[in-house]
Amino acid sequence: MKIFEYMERHGYEQLIHFYDKTTGLKGITCIHDTTLGPALGGTRLWLYESEEAAETDALRLARGMTYKNAAAGLNLGGGKTVLIGDATKIKSEAYFRALGRYVQSLNGRYITAEDVNTSTRDMEYVHMETNFVVGLEGKSGNPSPLTALGAFYGVKASLQAKFGHQDFSKLSFAVQGAGQTGYYLIKHLVAAKAKKIYFSEINPAHIERMKREHPEVEFVAPEAYFGLDVDVLSPCALGAVLNDKTIPMIRAKVIAGTANNVLDDEDKHGKMLVERGILYAPDFVINAGGVINVYHELHGYNRAAVEYDIAKIADRLTEIFAIAAKENIPTQEAAKMFARQRMAAIAGIHTNFIPK
Ligand code: NAD
Repeated sequence: MKIFEYMERHGYEQLIHFYDKTTGLKGITCIHDTTLGPALGGTRLWLYESEEAAETDALRLARGMTYKNAAAGLNLGGGKTVLIGDATKIKSEAYFRALGRYVQSLNGRYITAEDVNTSTRDMEYVHMETNFVVGLEGKSGNPSPLTALGAFYGVKASLQAKFGHQDFSKLSFAVQGAGQTGYYLIKHLVAAKAKKIYFSEINPAHIERMKREHPEVEFVAPEAYFGLDVDVLSPCALGAVLNDKTIPMIRAKVIAGTANNVLDDEDKHGKMLVERGILYAPDFVINAGGVINVYHELHGYNRAAVEYDIAKIADRLTEIFAIAAKENIPTQEAAKMFARQRMAAIAGIHTNFIPK
């Protein structure tokens, strides 16, 4: 890949490679855009097959965070760190403190957090070397229930847009994955008195938990999930599940869940859903509850303020659905337009000189 050509094409600001001699820490931090504020995005630890694969992932994920943070109404830009290594062998206090020092060296242009294969405990070590880290133990806590809460608001906005009402007792739902987020989303659907709820899972412990706590929620085999005769599908497990194979099977009219990168090919599959009359709640907008939660750590954490901000996910989706209808474009594209419009508007008000 020609890095500068790629950075120019997508408006990247900075790509940093770092290596720590003592711990073997090898990492890449990408800052995509800081128009709205410091770039925030988690640190992913992965045994990448090549350095190029790690670089590509950092670039892709950082850009995704720019859209996510902008659409969530946060004063944050987008960034990401990837670490190359075997998570089962390489982690130590020194390893994460070395990372903390590199985060600190960016002087607040980038704020990190936990991500795949890194935990709040690892971030405690990062925090010994820098204050530019969020998602710490004893602060904003587990993001999953808040991601699920945001998705529930997103489901409500989607029902309003598609069916013209939010009467859960008239509608049926199917949740894919009853893990960290799906479990809590199902609880919201139960509390809202949904007419019927199905769930699919592959982890026996999670299947048992759901059957024990909510026997009225019916298990369906994973292969039967997409063809279910329901009104709403909520993917809360894996990415790329909306693809050439699954979309033709779908009978639901709304897709709204917590999973990331749900569309296998954003352009192609976004259009296929439109053609089939299915309303898709863009993943990075509906699942922003977790990032909204950690953002509040930067300003003195207050749970009520967090929940107030998470409720706004419904308003944002309503606006995005309206843009999609007006412009005749898929909702994922409309969500990006919405994010870009906010960035352009805020950049605009920052052009006048104000002396310090
Ligand atoms: P998780 O691993 O806790 O839960 C996923 C569940 O899906 C697991 O129980 C797993 O057994 C199940 N599963 C896997 N394959 C399946 C299949 N084929 N059919 C049915 N079930 C299957 O993960 P999570 O934290 O709930 O995250 C789920 C999705 O939401 C991911 O895409 C994640 O990136 C995204 N997300 C999570 C958060 C958060 O706060 N946790 C925030 C934003 C986005």
